[in-house]
Amino acid sequence: MSYQVDNKGYYGEYGGAYVPEILYATVENLKNHYLEVLESDEFKKEYMQLLRDYVGRPSPLYYARRMSEKYGCQLYLKREDLNHTGAHKINNTIGQILLAKKMGKKRIIAETGAGQHGVATATVCALMDMPCVVYQGALDVERQHTNVERMKMLGAEIRPVTSGNGTLKDATNEAIRDWCCHPADTFYIIGSTVGPHPYPDLVARLQSIISEEIKQQLQEKIGRDYPDFLMACVGGGSNAAGTIYHYIDDERVGIILAEAGGLGADSGHTAATIHAGSLGILHGSRTLVMQTADGQIIEAESISAGLDYPGIGPIHANLADKKRATVLSINDDEAVKAAYELTRLEGIIPALESAHAIAALQKMQFKPSDVVVLTVSGRGDKDVETYLSHKEMAGEYGNF
Ligand SMILES: *Cc1c(COP(=O)(O)O)cnc(C)c1O
Repeated sequence: MSYQVDNKGYYGEYGGAYVPEILYATVENLKNHYLEVLESDEFKKEYMQLLRDYVGRPSPLYYARRMSEKYGCQLYLKREDLNHTGAHKINNTIGQILLAKKMGKKRIIAETGAGQHGVATATVCALMDMPCVVYQGALDVERQHTNVERMKMLGAEIRPVTSGNGTLKDATNEAIRDWCCHPADTFYIIGSTVGPHPYPDLVARLQSIISEEIKQQLQEKIGRDYPDFLMACVGGGSNAAGTIYHYIDDERVGIILAEAGGLGADSGHTAATIHAGSLGILHGSRTLVMQTADGQIIEAESISAGLDYPGIGPIHANLADKKRATVLSINDDEAVKAAYELTRLEGIIPALESAHAIAALQKMQFKPSDVVVLTVSGRGDKDVETYLSHKEMAGEYGNF
């Protein structure tokens, strides 16, 4: 048995491709070509060269001495925060734009919530001289002003979406609508391991460079190419999928996923989809979804804009269902406190999303010899305002 995708596009009972008739041929075409392109020597050469010279890979695997002492384990941080544009998202957008070009597409569309995926997409569109349209909820356009300006500066057109609540799920609906109108010439760059098959597998493969590097780096550092535990935060699930990709069927390696509890997984103000969701279909995928009894989507709530998604990748729904992964729900205040702690103990200000993974450390029981690799998915520059306005959550570290 494998936890990777099966030949029908499913992970256990999750996944598949639930798309409108008009997109069927486009999605089929992508499904029939993505592996051939990704495995071609030409693609691999261009992709790896850009990851090295443009993104700055390999990202370091850093032994966090003071955090290791505090949590009684051997903690290594996978530093995706050091990538160009400040997070892991660029690994995926570089790969998808190369794929789009190889498939002869002329125009790129994307959805974005906080704007991180929008910026990563606008960046590679500037690099490759491709027109770029980014759909973003009108409320998010207001809340995420700096990222909107960055996308515009990079040459992208931002289309604010006013339907629904004006947030990520509405932006995604609108991007899918655009795709339906331009299926032949447009490539939709999806930002996480969500959407119809083959997107979850495509994005996981493009992020799998993270675990490929972890393997080599652990071998060099500890003489063994696997850890005892892997830890990552999950929004849609792409940084987690990349972190676990090469270990997913290796039962020696424990998988710990941290989802955003918001005010609490049972509070009704949460983004903890695996805890609070039920089986449904969202954005082309059969997965866990936060929904009312009659199937209306419930808005996700979290202090972290990047984890604010009412669905979850089908990969992770299956890992949780089969108990292959342990899923912990981390509340807003726990994440903020953990961000301050990492800042003071290691001099690294993490993204609020990544801080959820760090906060999960205190919920674990480690042996001193346990090797733990935790992915710091992004840097915290974008979150400094939020950190300062929530100093009261930081405990001892908030007295300044
Ligand atoms: C977008 C984002 C996430 C959440 O997305 P995943 O697909 O779950 O990885 C996590 N961390 C950072 C820094 C992000 O920008």
